[in-house]
Amino acid sequence: MKLTLQVVMQQDDKPPQVQEIACLERDMLSPETLGLSLQEAKTVLAQLQETLVREQVATAVSAQQTCPHCGATQRRKGQHQIVVRSLFGKLTLDSPRLYTCACQSEAPQRSHSPLAELLPERTTPELQYLQAKWAALLPYGVTVDVLQEVLPLEANHTTVYRQLHQVAERLEGELGDEQPFFVEGCQRDWNTLPRPDGPFTVGIDGGYVHARDGDNRKAGWFEVIVGKSIPTDSEDKSFGFVTDYDTKPKRRLAELLKAQGLQMNQAITFLSDGGDNVRDLQFYLSPIAEHLLDWFHVTMRITVLRQQLKELVARAPNEDLSKLDARFESIKWYVWHGNAFRALQEIQGVQWELEGYEEELPASSKLAKSVREFYGYIEANERFIPNYGERYRYGEAIATGFVESTVNQVISKRMVKKQQMRWTKKGAHLLLQVRTHVEVW
Ligand SMILES: [Zn+2]
Repeated sequence: MKLTLQVVMQQDDKPPQVQEIACLERDMLSPETLGLSLQEAKTVLAQLQETLVREQVATAVSAQQTCPHCGATQRRKGQHQIVVRSLFGKLTLDSPRLYTCACQSEAPQRSHSPLAELLPERTTPELQYLQAKWAALLPYGVTVDVLQEVLPLEANHTTVYRQLHQVAERLEGELGDEQPFFVEGCQRDWNTLPRPDGPFTVGIDGGYVHARDGDNRKAGWFEVIVGKSIPTDSEDKSFGFVTDYDTKPKRRLAELLKAQGLQMNQAITFLSDGGDNVRDLQFYLSPIAEHLLDWFHVTMRITVLRQQLKELVARAPNEDLSKLDARFESIKWYVWHGNAFRALQEIQGVQWELEGYEEELPASSKLAKSVREFYGYIEANERFIPNYGERYRYGEAIATGFVESTVNQVISKRMVKKQQMRWTKKGAHLLLQVRTHVEVW
């Protein structure tokens, strides 16, 4: 059998025009011949697009030839071609150049190209959106392959990358100015607000990304902050930025909370690993915010210390040393119950004991150093350590395993694990903006 696809074009005052766009032939029915193949679908779409666009352009061009002011026909000076990329193919359009009508200009030689003016962007908005979205989720090369495989279009690395940056720059442009604080109104205003939904939990965490600086292969690393805001009754949203590139991180977070409907009389809990830049970000966003050290990071650090101890004891068996493990366990429970004071005493005790081994067992100095660092960490964050146990019993937020997975999703896979991939601060920052807007993890 043979199936011919035709389109019938009808315009008010003209006889209908028939245009053939594809011809499909089939003999035996089999799984392979059932329905359209991908290639046929692409051909049909591309042909249909061509036909539709050709008619649209012809209609527009003919209308443009008449002066909208006096109705005279404008003389043609010549024509050039413009290329517009669409989801269903690259379109090459004839764009006539017309002399500006005498009724509009004294100078007889002035001309303009109305079609080119009508289509200033050379990529359709839908294609722009899809390219930016996929490029935010997948490596640029994969984005190009996927789009080309399923749609009758031509894509390349450079345009996909450029599209992503254009979309990101537009998002950045929509963000207002930075402010030192975003608390709006006063207690009297807050009292009049409707009773808010359940509390918000915001987790913030950082990660490091391999830097690129021209041909300098030893450019090092830079810090990226990623977080997630979880309201009780609406959808989660993520945010991210490059620490020493972004000029308005606070605005970014404030707008996100606003978009999620945070009210000034609504409880909000910030959980983080306690770095200064992360802490500064959270302050003055809400009058009733609480700021906590994320339990997840506390346990991670203690687990690392216990692992180090285990390795040390394996290398140099020592009964007294191996008893330190139980003390790490008790440090963990002091912190769990919000007793930072006892935790610090205990950490110091362990530290002194380890320092006593430094001469007979030089390998212990590494662990002693880690314990000293942990002391500094708990001390610096003392006032952000709640009674985790009690919060946990009441079902309140204490940890953000979710942020860890956000960090992994947003940065590690793409920016860290592929070691050969190096980033500029700008490139990483812009990618994060689109990435956190498409939200598919
Ligand atoms: Zn005119």
